[in-house]
Amino acid sequence: MRIGYGWDSHEFKSGIPLKIGGLALPHDKGLGGHSDGDVLLHAITDALLGAIAGPDIGALFPPSDAQWKNADSAVFLREALRRVKTAGYEPVNLDSTLILSAPRIGPLAEAIRKHVAELCGIPADCVGIKAKTPEGMGTENAAIANVVVLLRRC
Ligand SMILES: [Zn+2]
Repeated sequence: MRIGYGWDSHEFKSGIPLKIGGLALPHDKGLGGHSDGDVLLHAITDALLGAIAGPDIGALFPPSDAQWKNADSAVFLREALRRVKTAGYEPVNLDSTLILSAPRIGPLAEAIRKHVAELCGIPADCVGIKAKTPEGMGTENAAIANVVVLLRRC
């Protein structure tokens, strides 16, 4: 068994779509960044890579590389899953906590859970999607994701 941990943050910017967990969510701002800014998929990608002691997302997909501009972050996740498989492991479950002031994740959590489960090839009841507001942290204009993932030998 292996455990992996990933963390990511992105700043909210006006005029771009919001993507979290590979889903486009209704909101007046999106997350900036070189790729599509999907904070949750980035943290999951880093958790998977960390579990196999691999290079991190920034090393594999450097923001300085033009080919990752506006990239679909599912591409990063797929590469992490490919490396996990090559290392002889498969994901068992993952758990996440998002920290953001808006939009409210509660009503959207089920859809995010299903989509993330599908992307990771695990059952929906093996994906935890939790959200908090950034009380006292002063990060109202950012979205933060924390993820842990468990792998088993396959
Ligand atoms: Zn990121």
